[in-house]
Amino acid sequence: MRRTGRVRAAVRTAVFLVFIIHAADSDMLFGDDGLRLTVVYDNNEYDPSLKTAWGFSCLIEGAQKTILFDTGGDGDVLIHNMKLLGIDPGTIDAVVLSHTHHDHTGGLQRLLKEHGDMEVWVGDWFPESIRNMARACGAEVVTVGGPSALCEGVFTTGGMGKEIREQALFFCTAEGTVIVTGCAHPGILEVIDTAKRLASEDCDSAEVFFVIGGFHLSGASERVLHRIVNGFQSRGVVKAAPCHCSGGACRAMFRAVYGERFIPAGAGTRIVLRPSRP
Ligand SMILES: [Zn+2]
Ligand SMILES: [Zn+2]
Repeated sequence: MRRTGRVRAAVRTAVFLVFIIHAADSDMLFGDDGLRLTVVYDNNEYDPSLKTAWGFSCLIEGAQKTILFDTGGDGDVLIHNMKLLGIDPGTIDAVVLSHTHHDHTGGLQRLLKEHGDMEVWVGDWFPESIRNMARACGAEVVTVGGPSALCEGVFTTGGMGKEIREQALFFCTAEGTVIVTGCAHPGILEVIDTAKRLASEDCDSAEVFFVIGGFHLSGASERVLHRIVNGFQSRGVVKAAPCHCSGGACRAMFRAVYGERFIPAGAGTRIVLRPSRP
C-alpha cells in the first residue's frame, strides 16, 4: 500500500511539470536543492488526481524548518492530497496559520492527529480555542505578536490589517524576497509593501521576486484588477502565482500581462527556486 503510494507519487512527479526558477547567486541559505514550494490544497485544479476544495495550503521545504502554511478547510482533503504527493506529516516542523478563517485553519486538527509533534504559529488575535486544541494534540504553540523569524531566512510579517487580521510568510532568497500569502484580506499590495519593508531589514535584497497564494480578488472589477497588476509591476514583482481566492479574471489578467512570469498554481503545483551553479 505504502509502496504503491510512493510509486504513484514518483510517477506523478515525473508527469507533472515542476516549475524550476534558477536563482542567479550561489547563496546556500536553502541548500543545493533550493527552496521548494508545493501547493497541497487549493480550489484551483492543477494535478487532476488531487482533490480540490475551497481553501489554501502550501508546503515549503528547503529551509531549516519544513513549514506548512495554512491547512485548507477540510482535513480529509489535506491528508488525501499529502499522501498522493508523497508528503509525510511527520516531516513538518511548523504550521503557520495566516488568519482564522476556516478555509485556512479547518485542516489543522486532522493534521495534528496524524502527527502532533510540531510548532503551530498563530497570531495573537487568534482565539484561545485553536491554541488549546493544538496543545491538546501535542503541538507547541507559538503566538506571533509582530514580525518574527521562524528560522534563518524565513519570516512572518506578523498581523496586518484591521478588520480581518492576517500574517504572510516571506523568504530571503538569492533572487529576492518570496512571499506566500493566504487570503490577503488586508490587500495584496499592502501585504507586498509590508514584506518589502521588513525584508529591507532582514534580507540582503528587498526586491520581491515571487508572490504566491490568495490575492482576494474574486469578483473584483477590471479597474481594480488593472490597479493590482500595475501595482505588482511598479513594485518590480518578477513572478506571480495567484491562486485560491484570486479569481479567474485576476489569473487571466496576470497570465496576459506577466506571460511566462505567471505561474499557474493549483492543487499539486510544485515550484523549485534552485540556486544555479557557475
Ligand atoms: Zn479569509
Ligand atoms: Zn481564504
